[in-house]
Amino acid sequence: MSYQALYRQYRPKCFEDVIGQEHIVTTLINQINSEHIGHAYLFTGSRGVGKTTCARIFARAINCLHPVNGSPCGKCEVCKAYDENNMDIIEIDAASNNKVEEVRDIREKVKYPPINGKYKVYIIDEVHMLTDSAFNALLKTLEEPPAHAVFILATTEAHKLPATILSRCMRFDFRLVTTEDIIKLLKKIFDKNKIEYDDKIVQAIATAAEGGVRDALSISDCAISFGKGKIDYDTVVNILGIGDKEQVATLVDNIIKGDLGEVLENINSAYLSGKNFAVFGKELTNYFKNLIVVKTCNNPDAILNQPKEIMDRYKLQADKISVDKLLAFMEKFSNIETDLKYSLSPKTLIELTCLECASFDPSKKF
Ligand SMILES: [Zn+2]
Repeated sequence: MSYQALYRQYRPKCFEDVIGQEHIVTTLINQINSEHIGHAYLFTGSRGVGKTTCARIFARAINCLHPVNGSPCGKCEVCKAYDENNMDIIEIDAASNNKVEEVRDIREKVKYPPINGKYKVYIIDEVHMLTDSAFNALLKTLEEPPAHAVFILATTEAHKLPATILSRCMRFDFRLVTTEDIIKLLKKIFDKNKIEYDDKIVQAIATAAEGGVRDALSISDCAISFGKGKIDYDTVVNILGIGDKEQVATLVDNIIKGDLGEVLENINSAYLSGKNFAVFGKELTNYFKNLIVVKTCNNPDAILNQPKEIMDRYKLQADKISVDKLLAFMEKFSNIETDLKYSLSPKTLIELTCLECASFDPSKKF
């Protein structure tokens, strides 16, 4: 059986299949239905959250003769022509084509009308990579675009764009996709591909993807190719290099309890499982930060975006420890992050730090 990488398989062709960006999708669909199409769009947000996917769907939909619920129909002349050879939608990666000459070339060619559809669409990815003179050339085009021209600028770093460009664009901020949404998607895709999995696995992958659909899929691909069609938890943990989340949570339990013996045991079993201690240190810093969020914020669920069981655990732990202590622990672990990377005995450093935290007396400081 030939295996097609999941991240290639899952490329939504209609807006309905895009997950986690409802606020954007709705607006785009409204524009398509009302035929109010702008000349310049800015799609910004983290990597792998659907910017280019939405740009492609939008570009096809505005050219489609009979869009279905705002998405390209896939059946009309234009849609069919695009499946063959798509000359009206031009994708440019600004990371490798960032010079003024290249933008001038766009300016020259954008004058010619589209071949099949109504609009000629330029999708410029990583647009923040353009040089200053390239931005200036782009600005000139955006100031006087031909009626048939649509520009979609995509970037992870909108703050690097000149204000003159920003002010010309309709801006769409893509969100990180929630862990819950990624879990649902993974389950759907795994089921469709008859890949065996359990909840713990999808949870681990979705959490590690940190809001990026593409990352979730490439982690899955990697695990599947190791597991020869199955995904097992240990493989996933190995690929992620993160060790078990449970490991961190248990260690924190014991630090809070002040149980020095258990603390040392936890660290030792992490060590035996091949844990990378530089990552471990970061996870602990982050864990204490999350507990501070749980203790101090009104709506920690919205900020941390974690599944209920993890949030419940956080809350239990947060109840047993003061903010002062948490702040001190967080500082302590964040201070050793660099040392952990270069230390010859990172395990000892982690042990020392955890023991100091476990026996910490806030009245005396570290
Ligand atoms: Zn169509």
